[in-house]
Amino acid sequence: MITRRFAAPLAAVLTGGSVLLAPPTAVAAPPAEKPAERVDKTPVAEGYGGAVSTVDLDASKAALQVLRRGGNAVDAAIAAAATLGVTEPYSAGLAGGGFIVYYDARRGRVHTIDGRETAPGAMTSASLEGIPFEEAVTSGLSAGVPGSVAQWELALRRFGTISLRQALQPAIEVASKGFTVDQTFYDQTAANAARFKDFTSTAALYLPGGAPPAVGSTFRNPELADTYRKLGRYGGRWLYGGGLGAEIVRTVKSPPVTPGSTRNVRPGLMELSDLRAYRALERPPTRISYEGMDVYGMAPPSSGGSTVGEALNILEALPDVGVHEYLEASRLAFADRGKYVGDVPGVPLRELLSDGFAKERACLIGERAMAHPAPAGEPDGDYAPCPAPAGGAQPETAGPAREGPETTHLVVTDRWGNVVAYNITIESTGGNGIVVPGRGFLLNNELTDFTFGPAPGDPNLPGPGKRPRSSMAPTIVLDDGRPLLALGSPGGSTIITTVLQILVNRWELGMSLPEALAAPRATQRNTAQTQAEQAFLDRYGAELTARGHSFALNPEIGAATAVEFLGKGRLQAVAEPSRRGGGSALVVSPAR
Ligand code: GLU
Repeated sequence: MITRRFAAPLAAVLTGGSVLLAPPTAVAAPPAEKPAERVDKTPVAEGYGGAVSTVDLDASKAALQVLRRGGNAVDAAIAAAATLGVTEPYSAGLAGGGFIVYYDARRGRVHTIDGRETAPGAMTSASLEGIPFEEAVTSGLSAGVPGSVAQWELALRRFGTISLRQALQPAIEVASKGFTVDQTFYDQTAANAARFKDFTSTAALYLPGGAPPAVGSTFRNPELADTYRKLGRYGGRWLYGGGLGAEIVRTVKSPPVTPGSTRNVRPGLMELSDLRAYRALERPPTRISYEGMDVYGMAPPSSGGSTVGEALNILEALPDVGVHEYLEASRLAFADRGKYVGDVPGVPLRELLSDGFAKERACLIGERAMAHPAPAGEPDGDYAPCPAPAGGAQPETAGPAREGPETTHLVVTDRWGNVVAYNITIESTGGNGIVVPGRGFLLNNELTDFTFGPAPGDPNLPGPGKRPRSSMAPTIVLDDGRPLLALGSPGGSTIITTVLQILVNRWELGMSLPEALAAPRATQRNTAQTQAEQAFLDRYGAELTARGHSFALNPEIGAATAVEFLGKGRLQAVAEPSRRGGGSALVVSPAR
């Protein structure tokens, strides 16, 4: 099981070197578009000049179209995200939020844009106390101030080359002409039918004739096409304080509950002033080095970058790395995440990501699984080689049962070598279940990511204007300053372990990137049991159980997308072969 620093595929990549293509100013004409070209859904694509991977063929095609017309990775990523708002409306949408990690090839720098939703100004640490989780899920109360549109505008203004209006075009086309309902869309609609029917607007859109649209049928969303068109015309101001914002506020405060429904739908606290006050924010990325590579991620309010980074540092401090070590490093990093990370001042990010702290934490990993729960460490700058465990026990508070397959992730790279890793979400699959009447999109329920409390000292309690702690972990790896890998996944707090496990598979277990994504998954988040897919149990269950691990079945963990720079300009875009119905990887040109 243990294969320390598996050299073969990675060494080949490293010696091949990642060659950046010409800078934007020295670009030849974009490759001509072939209008009749047939594009299929495939999980792996290799080639040149740019690449994209998303969960959905239409979204990947939208990105490819933008790239082929000369747009850059940011332009293409926004086009794909908006299209996912049409075809994956239960995971993504203009009323959601997300995080972008962006490698700017010309400047050789990694940037991030935080488009996380915020709590309304009227929300306090007690606002969610005592509310049953399931009740909060489908409510106005859990709707955060949307971040995606502000994020798109900021990303395009700072790093893009096209307008929001242009970026929305492919999505408008898909929303107007329609897309083919697949099994995943059908299943997600069916799983939500009981609550969708409780809102007139949602039932009208997603339960036409009272039932989920049939697999193979064409689903159109003309209202969303119209909303996108107007958004392109009026800009984000229409949402952040304008007419669309007023409609969102009205819907949040007075959800369109179906007459006769017995659901207790709590109204929200959002005001137009909250929308006016919203800002997407540029933040410095997290960075750690792993075996000489630089791993960049998302800083708080996401716990993605800090937790993936800490776990990698712990693994690097160990003499051997296999699946046991992967689970244990993750357990420890989650203990620290629970205690220290949230949208609060003073998160000890530097120390959490320091080698000294990682070495101290790595000391706790032995031959057998650690006792549950692992206590949080003391990231205080004063590290002993192998101290006695300290700090309070911090089991993961978000119960594992709550983590579903929601959210989505996409990667795009362009012919200049710019790279985008982008997580976008409306939180639950189907968000809060409430479509804004006449507008064709669902509201998020991101505020359920807060700790409901009472939990004195918890960094993730709600507060006015606060952003709930996220687990989203869009990740970009540079080798010698050049992009090597970009990846991410949906799945709530399993996002962190999925990203980590793919990196362990790739770098420590000798897998190629397609193998690393396809491999069976397990997720240990400082919980008593490790959740694992059946194939993981089949492969490792007996051996790990003998070492003290205990498992619970999770039928499907994550739905990752990734791209690897193979050297000499060659790209490998990778999506899931089967999870969530399989994803779509595309490249601009298969040949140089
Ligand atoms: N709300 C989650 C987070 O930010 C993402 C949605 C999910 O995948 O559960 O971590």
